[in-house]
Amino acid sequence: MTASRVLVLNSGSSSVKYQLLDMTDRSRLAAGLVERIGEETSRLVHTPQPGGEAQPREQLGPIADHGAALKAVAAELAADGLGLDSPELAAVGHRVVHGGTRFTQPTVIDDEVLAEIRSLVPLAPLHNPANVTGIEVARALRPDIPQVAVFDTAFHATMPESAARYAIDAETADRYAVRRYGFHGTSHAYVSRATAALLGKAPEDVNVIVLHLGNGASASAVRGGVCVDTSMGLTPLEGLVMGTRSGDLDPAVIFHLARVGGLSIDEIDTLLNKKSGLLGLCGDNDMREILRRAGEGDRAARVAFDTYVHRLKKYIGAYSAVLGRVDAVAFTAGVGENAAAVREAAVDGLAELGLALDLEANAVRSGEPRLISAEYARVAVAVVPTDEELEIAAQAYALVTQ
Ligand code: ADP
Repeated sequence: MTASRVLVLNSGSSSVKYQLLDMTDRSRLAAGLVERIGEETSRLVHTPQPGGEAQPREQLGPIADHGAALKAVAAELAADGLGLDSPELAAVGHRVVHGGTRFTQPTVIDDEVLAEIRSLVPLAPLHNPANVTGIEVARALRPDIPQVAVFDTAFHATMPESAARYAIDAETADRYAVRRYGFHGTSHAYVSRATAALLGKAPEDVNVIVLHLGNGASASAVRGGVCVDTSMGLTPLEGLVMGTRSGDLDPAVIFHLARVGGLSIDEIDTLLNKKSGLLGLCGDNDMREILRRAGEGDRAARVAFDTYVHRLKKYIGAYSAVLGRVDAVAFTAGVGENAAAVREAAVDGLAELGLALDLEANAVRSGEPRLISAEYARVAVAVVPTDEELEIAAQAYALVTQ
């Protein structure tokens, strides 16, 4: 018997999301989430065989730390006959947000790798510490099997220097590792490949613009399966308008807010990362709520929607120019997969770039990859559900079985 299960862990500062997959048929054996770790009101929701008949099980009550969270997850899995002590577990795949310039491939974690991931904390202070904790507790639980780090930045490592550099003093930039790294790479990799498959082509033969529109949002330009540009930069703050992040802005806004507004660096950081984007524009960061309010004539919600779409359209145009020839534009993640109104508005008026929708196809709700472009359009427009957990599991499994 070859071990074929992979546990995927996505550890946040107070949460752990997990999935257990069987890589022989890529099926999902279990999935779940532990949230509010370290609080009195922690909550674990465990779903055996997602998509099947079984009901999710919920567990409420304090879970002190990530170690306790993983033990609770292990107990839930054991109750389903899927204990983490099983010889069938081949690897644990960890989502790690920042890989810097050092990690451009999935990597088996040893002490040296863990130390390097730790050394990247200044580049991702909100994410890498939690990722490190997740790795430590999983290693303690199963020191005998490979723990694999899959980096959110890795897919973007192929960006040419002209796309990766900021036009600032090169020596200063290099000294402080200031460059564009990009994020959501696992999703951009998966969706660009799935889009090629939808077109019946090999990834090497298609140029795709991927629009990952979740709470965080990013665009990427993928030429023949290789990322050549992406909208997020040194951190996930750059680029598109997001749920609570501003995306692109004149860096002088920061000096102005500090000098004229008297805001501290930390206050500006919080403003731009947590109180901006859709939330800052209209008080809501959920696109469903914004669409509802805009439909009722709410002006702030309308402005938020229009600003969001305007930025999206600019990136579609920019990446059309970067790629030269575009074969497909793919929408993915919560907003991209579900908000037909966003897709319609983003593509509206882009016929000269070869983009036009079949509005009936666009309105269909489905969990499957699908084309929504008009028959006559030169560029395919697709909705392609992302699956970051499957991609992490596949990369980890490929590494440990090669
Ligand atoms: P995350 O970045 O947290 O993984 P998701 O990809 O799950 O986010 O996207 C979450 C966002 O998707 C929500 O904030 C919401 O705005 C949006 N969303 C989810 N369902 C719908 C829907 N039916 N219509 C419009 N937007 C939706």
